[in-house]
Amino acid sequence: MKSAKQACALIQETIAWNREMNESDKLHCMSCPKCMEILGLITELDVFIKESSQPEIPADFADKVMLLIEEEEQSAKDWFDKLSVKVGSLFQLKFVRWALVGSGILFSIFRFFRFFFGYLFAM
Ligand SMILES: [Zn+2]
Repeated sequence: MKSAKQACALIQETIAWNREMNESDKLHCMSCPKCMEILGLITELDVFIKESSQPEIPADFADKVMLLIEEEEQSAKDWFDKLSVKVGSLFQLKFVRWALVGSGILFSIFRFFRFFFGYLFAM
C-alpha cells in the first residue's frame, strides 16, 4: 500500500506531465486539496501557454485583411488612373504639344550643329 505522500507525488507527476489520469487518480484529486491545487495550477498554466502562443484571431480576420489589400490595390489603381488622365490632358494642351515639338526641333538642330562642327574641326 502506497503512502498518501507517495500517491500525491505520483499523481502530481502525472498532472505535470499532462498524462492521462486513471479513475482512482481522479478520485484522489477530488478529495486531496494539494493535488487539486496542483491540477488547477497546471491547467491554468496550460491555458496561459496556449493563449500566449496562439493569439486569438478574430473569425473575420482574413476577410478584413483581404478587404484592406483590395482597397489598397484599388486606391493605387485610382491614383494611376488619375495620373494618366492628368498626363493625357496635359498632352491635349496645344502649348505643351508645341513646347514638346519645339524642344525636339531645337535638340535636333543642336545635334546637327554639333555633328557638323565636329566634322568640320576633325578635318
Ligand atoms: Zn494528493
